[in-house]
Amino acid sequence: MQTHFTLAQLADADTRESETILRKCVHCGFCTATCPTYVTLGDELDSPRGRIYLIKDMLEAGRDADARTVKHVDRCLSCLSCMTTCPSGVNYMHLVDHARAHIEKTYTRPFLDRALRSVLAAILPYPGRMRVALIGALLAKPFRALLPSKGFFGRMRALLDMAPARIPSPSPMEGVTLFPAIGTARKRVALLQGCAQRVLAPQINEATIRLLTRLGCDVAIAEQSGCCGALVHHMGKTEASHEQAAANIRAWMKLWNGAGPDAIVVNASGCGTTVKDYGFMFREDPHLKAFAEDVSRRTKDISELLTELGMGAAKAPEQLVVAYHSACSLQHGQKLGGVPRKLLADVGFEIRDPAEGHLCCGSAGTYNLMQPELAQQLQARKVANIQALKPDLVAAGNIGCIAQIGAAASVPVVHTVELLDWAAGGPKPEALA
Ligand code: SF4
Ligand code: SF4
Repeated sequence: MQTHFTLAQLADADTRESETILRKCVHCGFCTATCPTYVTLGDELDSPRGRIYLIKDMLEAGRDADARTVKHVDRCLSCLSCMTTCPSGVNYMHLVDHARAHIEKTYTRPFLDRALRSVLAAILPYPGRMRVALIGALLAKPFRALLPSKGFFGRMRALLDMAPARIPSPSPMEGVTLFPAIGTARKRVALLQGCAQRVLAPQINEATIRLLTRLGCDVAIAEQSGCCGALVHHMGKTEASHEQAAANIRAWMKLWNGAGPDAIVVNASGCGTTVKDYGFMFREDPHLKAFAEDVSRRTKDISELLTELGMGAAKAPEQLVVAYHSACSLQHGQKLGGVPRKLLADVGFEIRDPAEGHLCCGSAGTYNLMQPELAQQLQARKVANIQALKPDLVAAGNIGCIAQIGAAASVPVVHTVELLDWAAGGPKPEALA
């Protein structure tokens, strides 16, 4: 694609990067067929190619974002399915991230929209605040039917719908900073304990720690580490996301007297995609660039690390049919779709793959709260494809998908690591008990 940025515009690092990305697009449109919003809405402007044109137009003209561009960029799930399909290697992720930051800087959203975004950004990355908000949501849930189903109140309804029926107690492992390996230590790893996941499903970190220590890892939880920054990053709030990411980089690189961990392990693949991108996020930062690149290099999804360590004699305790849902952030963001699936199959679970596995379930960070109508359509499509397999349960590697599918499926939805921990001698996942 031809571009016409001025030299002055290209002095800006983000614009330079976007120009390189735009030039790779040959407008072939292959990506439209696998884009969940295009498949659902059938509007070219809700396809990757349509959004690329809108973003190009906005950035090249150097103008403030307008309502039309914002509408179609907001509808993008950042599922990155288009990146898997694109034959030209267009890095849509970095392009849409730049567009979102530009929108945040130049567009004034309606008051209620701004307020909701600010509230979500101030609550979701902080487990203590999130727990209080969930208690409030549980108390308000019986009144949800009184809210209109569209617009701002539709989003409030979606918020109440996503509140789980029960808020788990904090894990007894909370606050512990080092879990020593059982037997000889083979690796020293830092676990990103996450924010939302830790409140909604503390058993995922518990299973991860049990499994890793059993397989010979010293597991550290770095003090001062917290949210990976993805939630606010996808809202275009660059400063906030960089602050959260910088805190993690500093905290991890201090571990083991400054040697850092052998690996940073992430068990929420949405977060893993962002942490693996820290090197890019800090490419212009003279102080953090090298550390950020190092962190990205050392970061592994839990399934990658388990493959490296080997699951030994682990064996599925029961013959169960598992529908494996490959989170977009795993299959498109990190290109690891087959890795967790293979681990589950190798220990003896019967794995079935849902049709349209490349399509997002509609979770996508805060998407199901900000775009509830589209998110619900994608959720229904995903759950129908899963239930057609008649599985005993669903496994996935990302808390957002687990919550989204779990809210509509008639079978339990668990994290892959809970099943692997069970197969290696850990307790049966609570959802199956
Ligand atoms: S598939 Fe790639 S090159 Fe083709 S239109 Fe989509 S982004 Fe552009
Ligand atoms: S990231 Fe997903 S929703 Fe957004 S344009 Fe690409 S395929 Fe479509």
